[in-house]
Amino acid sequence: MSTTHEVLNQSTPLVDINLFDSDRGLRDALRFNAPSLDTAALSRLGAEAGSAETEQHARLANVHTPELRTHDRFGHRIDQVDFHPSYHALLGGALRHGLHGTPWSRGSGAHLERAAGFIVWTQAEPSVLCPVSMSYAVTPALRSNEPLYDAWRTRIASTQYDARFAPLAQKTAVTLGMGMTEKQGGSDVRANTTRAESDGSDAWGPRVRITGHKWFFSAPMCDAFLVLAQAPGGLSCYFLPRWLPDGTPNVLRIQRLKDKLGNKANASSEVEFERSVAWQVGEEGRGVPQILSMGAITRLDCALGTSGLMRHALALALHHCDERHAFGKRLIEQPLMKNVLADLALESEAATALALRLARAVDRTENSQDADGHEALMRRVLTPIAKFWICKRGSVFAQEAMECLGGNGYVEERGEGAMARVYREMPLNSIWEGAGNIMALDLLRALRTGAVADALMHELQPARGANGALDRLAAGLPVRVDGTTDESGARLLARDVALVVQAALLKQHAPAEVFDTFCTSRLDQAGGGGTFGLLDARAPLDALLARAMPH
Ligand SMILES: Cc1cc2nc3c(=O)[nH]c(=O)nc-3n(C[C@H](O)[C@H](O)[C@H](O)COP(=O)(O)OP(=O)(O)OC[C@H]3O[C@@H](n4cnc5c(N)ncnc54)[C@H](O)[C@@H]3O)c2cc1C
Repeated sequence: MSTTHEVLNQSTPLVDINLFDSDRGLRDALRFNAPSLDTAALSRLGAEAGSAETEQHARLANVHTPELRTHDRFGHRIDQVDFHPSYHALLGGALRHGLHGTPWSRGSGAHLERAAGFIVWTQAEPSVLCPVSMSYAVTPALRSNEPLYDAWRTRIASTQYDARFAPLAQKTAVTLGMGMTEKQGGSDVRANTTRAESDGSDAWGPRVRITGHKWFFSAPMCDAFLVLAQAPGGLSCYFLPRWLPDGTPNVLRIQRLKDKLGNKANASSEVEFERSVAWQVGEEGRGVPQILSMGAITRLDCALGTSGLMRHALALALHHCDERHAFGKRLIEQPLMKNVLADLALESEAATALALRLARAVDRTENSQDADGHEALMRRVLTPIAKFWICKRGSVFAQEAMECLGGNGYVEERGEGAMARVYREMPLNSIWEGAGNIMALDLLRALRTGAVADALMHELQPARGANGALDRLAAGLPVRVDGTTDESGARLLARDVALVVQAALLKQHAPAEVFDTFCTSRLDQAGGGGTFGLLDARAPLDALLARAMPH
């Protein structure tokens, strides 16, 4: 009680809930994709991610942002970044739960388990998942230099997070990053000017000296990076560690940290290399496909991460509207608010379904006993589609979820306002690792890699005949998919394939009301221009909300 008034009708913080156990859409999707997976570890992860202690770490890591120290007090360059202990607690938690390099050595189902864990830990704090994602994604590219991979693989997969700036041999675990983007070109990396000069060869293969810069270089405290540079034979991919095998530091000048819209707890930097030592990964001149084998996995993580952010925003909105009263009712009982929340719930579940489907394709193709042509094709086609569509929906989703909290949604109050954090984070996954247009163009390339129309029809088969609008959209796809080169229509095609695949997945692992309402609202009605809350008045709103409630 204050002296002037009683504080009434404010919602409570959403903490101390199990973010895995309480997410029915995620659990159903996971059971469909990995029926025999033991989810006990995910339950433990979900409890930790949703605890009040973890939320406090997220707040502190975003308020006390990373600080660059370029020199020590004697004037020597040190190029280190200081993080708040809460950042280390969150990153350490992600490694302890095996969200980085561990799935590559664990066999069937490991990538799916990790994908679900990634969705959940994103709700704890997305910023730390940047280095986690890059450390996960590096393995497919690094494997093509066997001696390097052998030297680093144990520590890439180790769950004993070690924040120290120290040589490989002294560390229990390492994290890895990537450097592609330069000032004059990001999407078009062929414009890279950073150059590599031969410096002989040693146990880790052909060695070079790299000179130049990177304009975006996230998580510069990582232990090593894959970077692109121009060699005599063309753009090539190199492994650049912070410490050299002789125990001396490599040259990596961190010029400044980016002042970003969101993603505050994570450090993103601008760097320069001057005769920095690096080792070749893959063939000289084949740098783009080489580093894209890393980029394809981080694109999966953009889809997973945005699904996690959507679920987080939805849970915050549902919780608030459950507790807040206006005009004589709880907000969640107001018919129009029900419509908005149920519509958001549909979008969130559909995003999770598509992201986990892609994770299944990765899991199947990485475990050779499960590898088959269909999964490989789905992996290639669904990567740009899921990254494009889920991330595009993310920002409008966050705006609508924020509005459910009214003015409180827009307020951060020293990091307490998780919804504002989610909103500022949301556009990032859409931009990095290939912005929307780049994903749509990549879809056109993917369509040339195999019999995609047949594969899509096979994918949609379990849902054929279940909904007229789905059947109509699906029937038109083969002619649009086969041999198309129409760049200006590529976004439309990506959206339509995303929608039919999402619908087919919901048919298989969500209740009928979710599938039916998704089809009616997304496939059968005039689009709402991104606005939520346009569901048909007859939609089963109560059932949709009951399924989505976080507790
Ligand atoms: C916070 C943050 C962290 C980052 N971290 C890293 C990192 O660690 N390592 C790294 O290498 N990069 C990183 N990036 C860079 C990011 O990947 C690039 O910003 C992104 O790939 C886009 O490149 P660009 O900024 O040069 O924009 P551009 O390539 O100039 O693109 C601008 C716009 O043009 C569009 N466009 C480009 N080509 C075409 C075309 N042919 N047809 C139609 N449209 C087109 C793009 O879709 C985009 O919308 C980071 C970015 C951010 C914001």
